[in-house]
Amino acid sequence: MLLLAATTIFISCGGVKNTIVKTENINYTVEQFADLQILRYRVPGFDDLSLKQKELIYFLTQAALEGRDILFDQNGKYNLTIRRTLEAIYLQYKGDKTDPDYLNLEVYLKRVWFSNGIHHHYGSEKFIPGFTPEFLKHEILNLDAAKLPLFNGQTPVQLCNEIFPIIFDSTIMPKRVNQADGQDLILTSACNYYDGVTQQEAEAFYNSMKDSTNETPVSYGLNSRLVKENGKLVEKVWTVDGLYGEAIQKIVLWLKKAESVAENNAQKEVIAKLIEYYETGDLKTFDEYSILWVKDLDSRIDFVNGFTETYGDPLGMKASWESLVNFKDMEATLRTEIISGNAQWFEDHSPVDKQYKKEKVKGVSAKVITAAILAGDLYPATAIGINLPNSNWIRDHHGSKSVTIGNITDAYNKAAHGNGFNEEFAYSDVEKGLIDKYADLTGNLHTDLHECLGHGSGKLLPGVDPDALKAYGSTIEEARADLFGLYYIADHKLQELGLTPNDDAYKAEYYTYLMNGLMTQLVRIEKGNSVEESHMRNRQLIARWVFQQGMPDKVVELVKKDGKTYVVVNDYQKLRILFGELLAEIQRIKSTGDFEAARSLVEGYAVKVDPVLHAEVLERYKKLNLAPYKGFVNPVYELVTDKDGEITDVKVSYNEGYAEQMLRYSKEYSSLPTINN
Ligand code: ZN
Repeated sequence: MLLLAATTIFISCGGVKNTIVKTENINYTVEQFADLQILRYRVPGFDDLSLKQKELIYFLTQAALEGRDILFDQNGKYNLTIRRTLEAIYLQYKGDKTDPDYLNLEVYLKRVWFSNGIHHHYGSEKFIPGFTPEFLKHEILNLDAAKLPLFNGQTPVQLCNEIFPIIFDSTIMPKRVNQADGQDLILTSACNYYDGVTQQEAEAFYNSMKDSTNETPVSYGLNSRLVKENGKLVEKVWTVDGLYGEAIQKIVLWLKKAESVAENNAQKEVIAKLIEYYETGDLKTFDEYSILWVKDLDSRIDFVNGFTETYGDPLGMKASWESLVNFKDMEATLRTEIISGNAQWFEDHSPVDKQYKKEKVKGVSAKVITAAILAGDLYPATAIGINLPNSNWIRDHHGSKSVTIGNITDAYNKAAHGNGFNEEFAYSDVEKGLIDKYADLTGNLHTDLHECLGHGSGKLLPGVDPDALKAYGSTIEEARADLFGLYYIADHKLQELGLTPNDDAYKAEYYTYLMNGLMTQLVRIEKGNSVEESHMRNRQLIARWVFQQGMPDKVVELVKKDGKTYVVVNDYQKLRILFGELLAEIQRIKSTGDFEAARSLVEGYAVKVDPVLHAEVLERYKKLNLAPYKGFVNPVYELVTDKDGEITDVKVSYNEGYAEQMLRYSKEYSSLPTINN
């Protein structure tokens, strides 16, 4: 399961803006096109790893990059053909580079790279090209045919006939994943997980495999394409000698090198088991691998490499290929461990009525990791948190690993500095100063308090149904966790624990929380709509409630300056008391299952939007020209060897451009044929 950054779901807006943010001589922003912004992340701490650890990471990053073409093919049958054709034109083009057709082809290719195919990575709808079929045909026919991905004696004209309807006809393959109720989801989805098979046939095929008495079922269909051959359904399994074998062989080659420099035996076993799975395609072996992986908690370096998430299959069975190589961020993990280690103190001192508190509370420690490479379905767009494995019985019997990716969150934060957002929406230099100085730190801390303590605090009274709050349950639960964090982030205890530097830092979190909850999160909502998503509802609930309760004392105000609305916090200490009061009430609602109170809080504060303020916020946001979706270029790793060819170091650098990186990957890590049957 993935945790996505809030920034990935900002509303769409066009335009190009090149704000280059530079810190420590590293550009965090690379470029912007269509609705996408390309960022760069750093890998702090890499240089301090031992040579063996660096080698391990290097081999795992190579194994990660070798899987790229698999995802292109999974996302659509013609994706590799189209990518390779466009890349050939892009590299050989000798015409006018200011020609709008050429510029539009460049944007289209950049989008294909970003989405690992011709459909939007998030919405899954097919892109409409801004160049003409005549232009594309002219360029294809003018190329040296040897540069084109011609298949089985195809001519360039035949290539055009094959791919033009796919590129230009908006009615063909309009969606990568179709979820519309009542249609054949397989026949109407462009993803390449099924061939010549109807939804009914696929469901019958897999239902016949399932046995409801089996308590440890494998993840049926996870690693294969289901096809019809001579009227019979067969699975083409993705293994070293099966479908995608050319790429999987390379992955295995690098995994074997990684195995030879593993940190310890447990990790060695994990890698060996993964290799066995790639060699056999046996899903029982995959489960054994997942169990070994979830139990390996001592290694500093960790990785995901394989067919993992099933969001790309309309039936949610077949997994897209992805990889993430990472190592534990010791300092940030220490922060979550300190918080978890003091969980009982926080529980005992909260403003909640004693009867709703836990006598014995256990904090959850989530590991903070540093990503070293993003690949497959985690590249260039990525999650900021991952929780694996996905198999339910393995999670129940053996647990799961939950990680947040610290350096990716950091890169989002760095790129947000100077993008004009806070300059537009924060009230004065005082608030902007607080945000610049402390908001990154307190934002992370609030997330930690929310995850490690908030969700785990409090208890239900005996006999209370955990689902008593029904549809309001998740908003109330998120509000509870957020309020626990808000209440404690201002506590002197955090300074004692060394987690906050002084008595001012928390104000950055309070201000941004209210600015977001009262105003700026509305940028993600279309005109005329109300607030639906439960995290957004929770934030508005909290912000609106303290705003109204604090009105007599003017604790928080919405003021107008030059015709624009701003949030002003007049009394931070009283604001904290209000957060505490709401926390006590929300915990009472949860503990007693008070449905009516939950409904009146949510309906009264969390759902409705002030249409005038909403329109103003959308208008101001639009002028900032910010791209709603972000992705990353990877760092480049290079082996340093001595005269005997022995590895002496691994160097990491951050200078590669977006197109440069994509073209290099297409050249160096592209072993699959154009059409994979
Ligand atoms: Zn939560």
